[in-house]
Parts: sequence; C-alpha cells; structure tokens
Amino acid sequence: ITPPLDDFDVIKPVSGHAPIYAGSIDLQLRKVLADIDVDECEANGENAFFVANLAEIYRQHLRWMRALPRVVPFYAVKCNPDPYVLRLLAAMGTGFDCASNGEIQAVLNLGVSPSRIIYANPCKAASFVRHAAAHNVGLTTFDNVDELYKMKKFHPGCKLVVRILTDDSKSACQLGLKFGAPLDSVPRLLEKAKELDLDVVGVSFHVGSGCYDADAFRDAVHRARVAFDMGRDAGFTFDFLDVGGGFGHDNFESVAEVLGPAIDRYFPDADFASGGKAVPGKPNGLRIIAEPGRYYVHSAFVLATNIIAARRGEEAEEAPSSQEVAAVEGARDKPEVMYYQNDGLYASFNCVIFDHVTVYPKVLTLDRKYVYRPEIPSPGIVAPGADADEAERKAWSLQPCSIWGPTCDSIDCVRELAHLPRGLEVGDWLVYENMGAYTICAASTFNGLRRSEVRYTVGGGEDGAVVRDLLLQ
Ligand code: PLP
Repeated sequence: ITPPLDDFDVIKPVSGHAPIYAGSIDLQLRKVLADIDVDECEANGENAFFVANLAEIYRQHLRWMRALPRVVPFYAVKCNPDPYVLRLLAAMGTGFDCASNGEIQAVLNLGVSPSRIIYANPCKAASFVRHAAAHNVGLTTFDNVDELYKMKKFHPGCKLVVRILTDDSKSACQLGLKFGAPLDSVPRLLEKAKELDLDVVGVSFHVGSGCYDADAFRDAVHRARVAFDMGRDAGFTFDFLDVGGGFGHDNFESVAEVLGPAIDRYFPDADFASGGKAVPGKPNGLRIIAEPGRYYVHSAFVLATNIIAARRGEEAEEAPSSQEVAAVEGARDKPEVMYYQNDGLYASFNCVIFDHVTVYPKVLTLDRKYVYRPEIPSPGIVAPGADADEAERKAWSLQPCSIWGPTCDSIDCVRELAHLPRGLEVGDWLVYENMGAYTICAASTFNGLRRSEVRYTVGGGEDGAVVRDLLLQ
C-alpha cells in the first residue's frame, strides 16, 4: 500500500541517516526547531543541521531533460554523495561520474549497472583501476602517457576518453591547472594509445566548476571537434563526447542554448535519432554525456545554524577587520557584533574557501521566534539577509556584524561583514539557502565537532508523490 504523503517516513533509512518526511523545507525547519530547546538540550542537541528537499533534485532533472535531451547526465558524485540523493538519481536513470574507488562502490551498492558509470579521473591509483576492472567499470578518462601504461597493465579492455584542456578562465573553480591535455599533445597521446592497442572512443572536457560564461562551452565543443579529427587521423573511430560539468543553477538555460547549437554546428553529421548510439556505417553517430554536479544539488539543501555566542560593542570593536572588508565592503561599516555559530569553514562552510562562494545568512528565528519566509527572495523583507539594502537596514534596524564558525581558529570566519537585525540573541537560528554543492562532502570534524546532519523531505504536492514513488522503487 502506498503510504500517504504526510507521514512518509516508511522508507528504510540508510544506516546513520535520518528518515525522509514530506512537506516543504520550511515545514521541516519548523518541525526540527520545535523539538530543540537550546536552554535544556543535551550536548550536540542544538547542532546545525541541513534540510534537503529531494523534490528539488527531481525538478532539476526535468529541467535538464527539457533543455538538453540529447545529453545524458552522469551526476558528479563528489559534489554531494548523499545516499538518498544518489538513490533518487539512480531511480531517475542518470549515469554517475565517479572520481575514486569509494564513489564507484557507493554507486554499485545501489544496484546501478557499471555501464552507467564513467570513472572520470585522469590520474587514478593503480589499485582503484584494478577494482574498476574487477567490477566491469569500463569507461575512463586520461590525459597523459603514464595513465595509458597503467591502463594497459591493469585494465586493457577499458574504453578510454581523452580529456582535453579548454578555456576555464570564466569559471569560479578552474581545473585546467591540474587536468586536461593541450590539443597539440593529443596526437602524441593517441599514437601511444594505438601503439599499446588501447581503445580510445572519444573526448571529454571540463570548462571549470561554476562556469559563468556560456561561450566557454561553445569554444570547448569546437576544441573537442578538433580532437575528434585527430582521433580519425590516428585510426580511431570516436563516437563519444563528454561535455563535463560546470553547469550552474541560475544560468543553465543560457548554457544549454549555447551548448546545443554548438554540438549541431561542430558535429553536424551526428546521428541523434539512434538514441545517441553509434550506428554501423555512420562513424559520427555520437553518444553525448555530461558530468553535472552542482547543477543538481545546489538549491536542494539549506543549512540551519545556531548562534552559540556573541561578542558585542567594545568586545567586538577591538577585533581588527581585514583589509578585504575595508576594500570591498566599505570601511564605514565596522562589525558591531561578532556572532559565533556552530558550523564554519572547517565544516560545511569549507565552500567559502574551496568553492569561492559568498554565503548569505537569513534569519530563521529572531528573539527566539520563527520569522523565516523562504518565498521572499534574498535578502527578503521578513527575513533580512546579509546584503540588505539601505532601506531594509533602516526598516529592520539592521546592525553590521561578522559571523564566525565554532572552532578556535581565527581563519574560521564565515562572513566578515553582514547586516542582521539587532534583536538577534545567542540561541537564535540563522539559515543559509543553496548549500547542497561542495559543502558536506569536504567537511571535517576539526576541534572535535560533529558534521551537521541532514534531515530529508520529498517535498509536497505532486512532485513529492513522484519523488516518494521513485525512492520506493
Ligand atoms: N567532472 C569532473 C571531472 C570534475 O572534476 C567536476 C568537479 O570538480 C565535475 C565533473 C562537476 O563539476 P560541476 O559541479 O561544476 O558540475
């Protein structure tokens, strides 16, 4: 019997993870907070926590299929390897981009066929390659000759994809420093692969994570075309194009509007009618995949943090504000309060360092009362965010503050300058939206602190019911 959506907690929880409920993120936040008494709870009882709305991932998938129906998404597991996220994606039929043995195992454990995995790391440990071979993971990327020798030795039947270097200067996280063969080195790589009797089937690239210029994709597809011609010259029949990651939540359609026509232009003879499979006698039949990570999970997770301490007035004014604050945010606003919250740079907010993001706190409770209104866009009126404009500052009596993590290190500063309402107290809660990508996966337990746990919802309404049924499959 299909359970009613309201009490959807019947899915067997993955060990160590919370069950899944239904309803909005807002509802989950209220529910969790209702059970926490910050004045009475046990140690860790007021820990920061995520709420994940799995329906958001489902909606992102529909959006992908609408805009890029020819490009099969292989979710980049590294971005957020949450077991329910992987389970939902598996049920929706995506493939998976795995970077390590552990990620491959996590995906195989879901019962996903190894044919739905690309081992998309051009520099792999030999033992991981042997493991991939033993589990029939038969597709991987390379960008150097040493990797070819390794593949010959440990997994000679693997299909290989040459990862080329593209222009990543329009991205928040540039990967070209570390990976990608420059085009002029590709003929030499292909010659070596031929000599070793290895099977190179196509080309991959990554324009960099957080790509903000859709044109980078057009240029990269052009370079891939050049590499395809090099493949033909080396005696290979390429039929595989992997356009990597870099897709954002906000600019996805504009990227798709560039990427789709670029594929048409540079691969005009590709046969998409065949479902992307190469067809005998049609050497340019193309199978196209992508490796989106951030795109799928960015907006699906919010993080609630508790204000565990504050230093005010003179206590805070003594603290030097960095040059960055003075230069970027204006020296006129010196933080009057230093808030200390129970998640920081060493944990979920590692994204501030590694992913180069600025995070925006919103007020979840004010003077212990719930005031969050998620439908109001940041910075919002009822729940002012860190970047409220002048009018809002006046209306809300906002106060310049800085926000710090819970560790004893002074680098652990989440925002050097934000504007939050004066009534905020120790024990109040903040919330950060869009915290699904590159957060939990790289969080440490530095200072003996626990990682923030995730609460789950399938969402409400029709989407919620679909997601619930997908998870129950
Ligand atoms: N593929 C590879 C090889 C990567 O290294 C990454 C991110 O580092 C991704 C895909 C995912 O990128 P994004 O999250 O920008 O989509």
